[in-house]
Amino acid sequence: MTDLRAGVQGRPPLDGRLEPWMSELLADAGGCAALVDRFGSPVNLIHPATMGRNAKQLVEAGRRAGVEIGLFFARKANKALTLVDEIVRLGHGVDVAGEAELQQTLQRGVPGRRIILTAAIKPERLLRLAVASGVTISLDSAPEAAAVAALAAEVGTIAQVAPRLAPDTGHGLPPTRFGAPSAAWSEVLAPGLGLAVAGVHFHLHGYRAADRAAMLAEAIGLVGRLREQGHRPEFVDIGGGVPIRYLDDGEQWRAFWAAHGASATRGDEQITWKNAELRSVYPFYQQPVRGDWLSELLAAPLGSGTVATALQAAGLRLHLEPGRALVDGCGLTLARVSFVKRRSDGVGLVGVEMNRTQCRSTSDDFLVDPILVRSTPSGPPWDGFLVGAYCIEDELILLRRMHFPHGVAPGDLIGLVNTGGYLMHILESASHQIPLARNVVCERGGYEPDPIDHWTSDSGSAVRPSPTVQHPHTSSSS
Ligand SMILES: *Cc1c(COP(=O)(O)O)cnc(C)c1O
Repeated sequence: MTDLRAGVQGRPPLDGRLEPWMSELLADAGGCAALVDRFGSPVNLIHPATMGRNAKQLVEAGRRAGVEIGLFFARKANKALTLVDEIVRLGHGVDVAGEAELQQTLQRGVPGRRIILTAAIKPERLLRLAVASGVTISLDSAPEAAAVAALAAEVGTIAQVAPRLAPDTGHGLPPTRFGAPSAAWSEVLAPGLGLAVAGVHFHLHGYRAADRAAMLAEAIGLVGRLREQGHRPEFVDIGGGVPIRYLDDGEQWRAFWAAHGASATRGDEQITWKNAELRSVYPFYQQPVRGDWLSELLAAPLGSGTVATALQAAGLRLHLEPGRALVDGCGLTLARVSFVKRRSDGVGLVGVEMNRTQCRSTSDDFLVDPILVRSTPSGPPWDGFLVGAYCIEDELILLRRMHFPHGVAPGDLIGLVNTGGYLMHILESASHQIPLARNVVCERGGYEPDPIDHWTSDSGSAVRPSPTVQHPHTSSSS
């Protein structure tokens, strides 16, 4: 481990958590070079098998608290189709946020009842496909409920829906564009509209368990009112936002922020490019995470008991739509070093054959040190910034200054670790007509392209027939 990290570090360092498959691959410089030669730079490597551990931690946290957990993998975190196959093989479901995501998921043979649609914008074509396939639709507004009801009547089915709850302003949570307040939903979902309420949904920005506990209380209240109207909701879905950590060492995280502040004061560019101030970043170190976080949520006080006892009393499953937390440890990006030179004022630069949208989320920076996979002899120390392919001054792969104690040279590779959640795809673009990165699956010691890179909406159904797509349930509950 220490060996792998010796090639490049920030000062102070932020050592990324490495899964065994990553350490093994990164230690094999020849194997890494062969992958980049075969698939181009950068290449996204996907290791679906790690999802199993992640899912198990969540399911077991539920089991310990006596609450049945339903997991729906939020596909927007990573587009690879093998991740859909893996999560479904493990017995879980999928959360889709657009028409292509839904089509592909159905084509992989996932039955509609194991899919929830949470798209922010739901065009009629998307809703029609969802209704006809028996997908549960998270409803954002009264007009959307009416549109779904009309389509259900047209298709001759009952649509499965989960109204999305927006927090009451009293909770101190920030206002949201999504969903509608509890009071609105009881009116909208009057019986006889062709809508069956399968559950109640919400998704909060941020990661606080306490906010979710407060929303759960509201959701359970709404479930009660919907049941009085004759609906039979079976779950509360608390969306995603299950926290993870990218770093093992909280001390490094604290030291980084101290150094960031001091460098900004000095204005010496020692920490970030042009002293860029990082304002909005993911908490790359935090705790509790995943299973422990869920245990804490289930044990949080609610009414006269806990979240867990309230769910049990109401006979409800707890659904989650984790994106990041399920693909934690499932991704690694490799890119080729193209040049080493100096900025016009002498600052060191390392040109990398990729662009910044290929490892960027909504965070201001990806605060994890890369790994240098060296294929050239070691040389004098070098330090500076990783710059990318877009013809823009501030085209940085990472905003942090990096130090290469034994140098770096064209032909070496940079490994960006744990990029599976959002960092590969959420902002990727093909500007300058540079093709998007290939996505390659690591399974049983081999490497195969993920079918997503060949998918088009026309040819999609030919990629794999969907023998097990089920007809919509018409077992009405309203
Ligand atoms: C983004 C999103 C998720 C996934 O969020 P993570 O933080 O990756 O777990 C789940 N559900 C909805 C509705 C979302 O918008």
